[in-house]
Amino acid sequence: MRRAGPTTIIELLTLSTSAIFIGSITGEFTRSALAISVAYLLLTIWRRNRFYEWLEKQEPNSSLWLSDMWRDMVKRIELRQAALKKENLLLERKVDNLHRALSSLNVGLVKVDSDWRLEWWNGQASKLLMLKLNKDLGTHLFSLIRNPALREYAENREFTEPLILTLHSQRRIVLEHFIGSVNQGGYIILIRDISHFQRLEEMRTDFVANVSHELKTPLTVIIGYIETLLENNTVPENMYRALANSLTQGLRMKTIIQELLILSNLETTKASEQTEIQLLDLVSQVISHTDRLKETILKTETKIISKNLDQTIIIGNWNELFSLFSNLLSNAIQYCPNGSTIQICFTLKGDQGIIAVKDNGPGIPHEHLDRLTERFYRVDNSHSRETGGTGLGLAIAKHILSRHDADLKIRSQVNDGSTFGCHFPKNRIILNSISEED
Ligand code: ADP
Repeated sequence: MRRAGPTTIIELLTLSTSAIFIGSITGEFTRSALAISVAYLLLTIWRRNRFYEWLEKQEPNSSLWLSDMWRDMVKRIELRQAALKKENLLLERKVDNLHRALSSLNVGLVKVDSDWRLEWWNGQASKLLMLKLNKDLGTHLFSLIRNPALREYAENREFTEPLILTLHSQRRIVLEHFIGSVNQGGYIILIRDISHFQRLEEMRTDFVANVSHELKTPLTVIIGYIETLLENNTVPENMYRALANSLTQGLRMKTIIQELLILSNLETTKASEQTEIQLLDLVSQVISHTDRLKETILKTETKIISKNLDQTIIIGNWNELFSLFSNLLSNAIQYCPNGSTIQICFTLKGDQGIIAVKDNGPGIPHEHLDRLTERFYRVDNSHSRETGGTGLGLAIAKHILSRHDADLKIRSQVNDGSTFGCHFPKNRIILNSISEED
């Protein structure tokens, strides 16, 4: 604070002179000093009230201008207010620019409070969700988008995967929702229109299904003719080998087509009949089904052990689960040398039931693990073809598992075997006695 200026000094001098003057006339110096001090105090209180008035109304007040001490205070406050105004303006401009930038994005953004009431949205969000500023501000998100899946997704607060919703307005719109929680409270929702990608994906699936279906009949006819020719022994010696090779390739192609049809069926249909399946029954049938394979590919010494399956019931589709475990077991038989040991075991870990197919075979290099469930992905192309592999087995396994709300987790170490773990949620498992993994 600046030191008191001339008016304050003059005021103080005048008051002291007055006190001395009155004191010398009356002979009561103390009383006159007291009276002058009280007068000065009253003047200060009056000025303080004027100061408060000025603070509230911000109107110029000449009474404060007479004292440079109060004038100084007013000036300082005015300077501070001007600086704050400038900062506010700058902030407002920044927020405005940010809103403008967010509005120009081709994705919808919605900010809701912690009760899921709409606070702000950008242009694309108002187009996608048909939001109106004067009508929908403050409205509950779930009363605007009446979808139980969205409500469940939001209430579970598990936002690692996006939520995909199909809205049926004039046209079918498929929207992908990402939700993130905001530190100060509330959520930000990012909405992307993926109708176009969804249509392309459906076209791709339909195309693969149609092509496979169309190829099936001519291929069956070709294979039939070749088989008849080979069986009738009417083929000249020099053509026999070529025809036998054609039959092998034709049968391979038939397997690929069959597996592509299985995949597209899994992709396009809803999960079929679900029953309670005794795990031990299912796995025993899968094991006896693979006996023929073991003989055909000379793996008769390979041992298959099932562990801890007799107390478990799994809720799912028998045919799909049969195909899943057949795929995993056939792979283990095919890719591990004769005499290997394969285990199929059940464990309960946390809130998941895990059915694992473990082998002590050659293992799979780490860099391939993430891609194994892609269609036609093979670790070693030539070896996989030799063994009759199509590269579709694990893609089918992954689809079957996802139709059972389950995941496939693959662990493998070169020269130390592989484990294909099927992780089912607990609500699909019924146990007679619990076996928990540490
Ligand atoms: P394929 O029809 O070629 O067997 P899959 O999708 O079933 O196709 O498997 C993909 C690839 O994963 C196989 O080509 C093989 O290289 C590898 N693989 C699968 N299971 C095993 C296993 N138990 N041990 C080693 N490699 C395996």
